[in-house]
Amino acid sequence: MASLSSASAARATTTFHLSPSSSSFRSSRRSSRVVVTRAAATSPKLPAGRRLRVAVVGGGPAGGAAAEALAKGGVETVLIERKMDNCKPCGGAIPLCMVSEFDLPLDLVDRKVTKMKMISPSNVAVDIGRTLAPHEYIGMVRREVLDDFLRTRAQKAGAEVLNGLFLRYEAPKEANGTYTVHYNHYDSSSGKVGGEKRSFEVDAIVGADGANSRVAKDMGAGDYEYAIAFQERVKIPDDKMRYYEERAEMYVGDDVSPDFYGWVFPKCDHVAVGTGTVTHKADIKKFQAATRLRAKDKIDGGRIIRVEAHPIPEHPRPKRVSGRVTLVGDAAGYVTKCSGEGIYFAAKSGRMCAEAIVAGSANGTRLVEEGDLRKYLAEFDRLYWPTYKVLDILQKVFYRSNAAREAFVEMCADDYVQRMTFDSYLYKRVVPGNPLEDIKLAVNTIGSLVRATALRREMSKLTL
Ligand SMILES: Cc1cc2nc3c(=O)[nH]c(=O)nc-3n(C[C@H](O)[C@H](O)[C@H](O)COP(=O)(O)OP(=O)(O)OC[C@H]3O[C@@H](n4cnc5c(N)ncnc54)[C@H](O)[C@@H]3O)c2cc1C
Repeated sequence: MASLSSASAARATTTFHLSPSSSSFRSSRRSSRVVVTRAAATSPKLPAGRRLRVAVVGGGPAGGAAAEALAKGGVETVLIERKMDNCKPCGGAIPLCMVSEFDLPLDLVDRKVTKMKMISPSNVAVDIGRTLAPHEYIGMVRREVLDDFLRTRAQKAGAEVLNGLFLRYEAPKEANGTYTVHYNHYDSSSGKVGGEKRSFEVDAIVGADGANSRVAKDMGAGDYEYAIAFQERVKIPDDKMRYYEERAEMYVGDDVSPDFYGWVFPKCDHVAVGTGTVTHKADIKKFQAATRLRAKDKIDGGRIIRVEAHPIPEHPRPKRVSGRVTLVGDAAGYVTKCSGEGIYFAAKSGRMCAEAIVAGSANGTRLVEEGDLRKYLAEFDRLYWPTYKVLDILQKVFYRSNAAREAFVEMCADDYVQRMTFDSYLYKRVVPGNPLEDIKLAVNTIGSLVRATALRREMSKLTL
């Protein structure tokens, strides 16, 4: 593979940006925002004066992060979002590392959670957070605010942001040809209801359009198993809100979910109460009622201001790349089991995918190939597969019965477990353990499981 010399890499900084006000691609002067990569490139060089054009479908964390990195890398980028003020149903919890990695301004974080209460089926509550350093917290954001911030930053970096509904794409008719993107263009000034059908040509497509991805359907990515998550936004009295100022709660038990957990997460001026399940979707409202009941004392007098539900993917799709089309975020299926976390992985996969495109196209001067997109998949899987696997195992072991859940909560009281869990969550790395502590933990966990199972046996005798 020929590697791009620093001289030609420097030349690649003469770039083309999409005009934010027009849908045409136009040339602009050298921009300090452009990120120069010195990647090897084997794909055809684009004609002089023509840059790689990429459509990013969806303007959530995955799409916003992808569009920004593409535009900064000298790629002509257009992001299509169907609803600019979309308030994605979401708990809004983000790990600390996301704030620094994505340069998020601190005023974007509504709440800094430092106390996490884990509540067992028998209502034994364990406080998690004792091991946190003074600067450490779980951030709580409003999705409409976070998503808008990331999209706006992508626009400032040179991406064109379109308000429209992606409908479908047509694959190129010849090798190295362009993809045609069809969408409904929404223009509030035109007064047209339902939008106007339009299309444009691109060299590659990044599907960041969430769990019900149309891009995934078009590329035949296959289905994934999903959980249905239900959430109510509850405005609670001020004195009750004070309790949740720095606190979030997680409830486990087969009343709130047979395979997930129920939660109360603090938002700026209300709390989000929710639950999810993969295995018993039809019973989701029953689980929600149980979650509300468990938190009753703390949310009493509250008024439900919004009810929302949305699928959460359980694992990656069978196929995540096809030709020059690829998936990121929920569209790809990057939510962890056990915790249901997806915001960070969406933004991270969007950025990693974009960086692979920037590198593969030598800052937008060459066409990308499927192999370039596969590099993003390989790197993402290499970095995060252990995290997904560990959380998958934890869910299988500890969410399978109330006895196991009791043991899980008991285990969470351990400082070593708290440190390991928080380090893995806040900094997104599987922390290497201390062998002696691991043995102690294994013994304690088995002890907890045995105790909880024995207790359950005794309880069932009593209720017979
Ligand atoms: C109830 C609930 C609670 C959750 N809580 C948390 C949590 O606390 N922390 C956490 O990390 N994760 C949480 N998640 C998961 C998290 O919400 C997702 O993983 C994350 O939003 C994925 O980001 P994304 O950008 O891939 O997709 P999305 O956020 O779904 O964004 C997709 C975007 O694409 C747009 N779009 C879709 N189709 C089209 C189309 N055809 N044309 C144009 N635009 C389109 C949508 O309007 C949307 O803006 C939760 C999920 C649910 C359902």
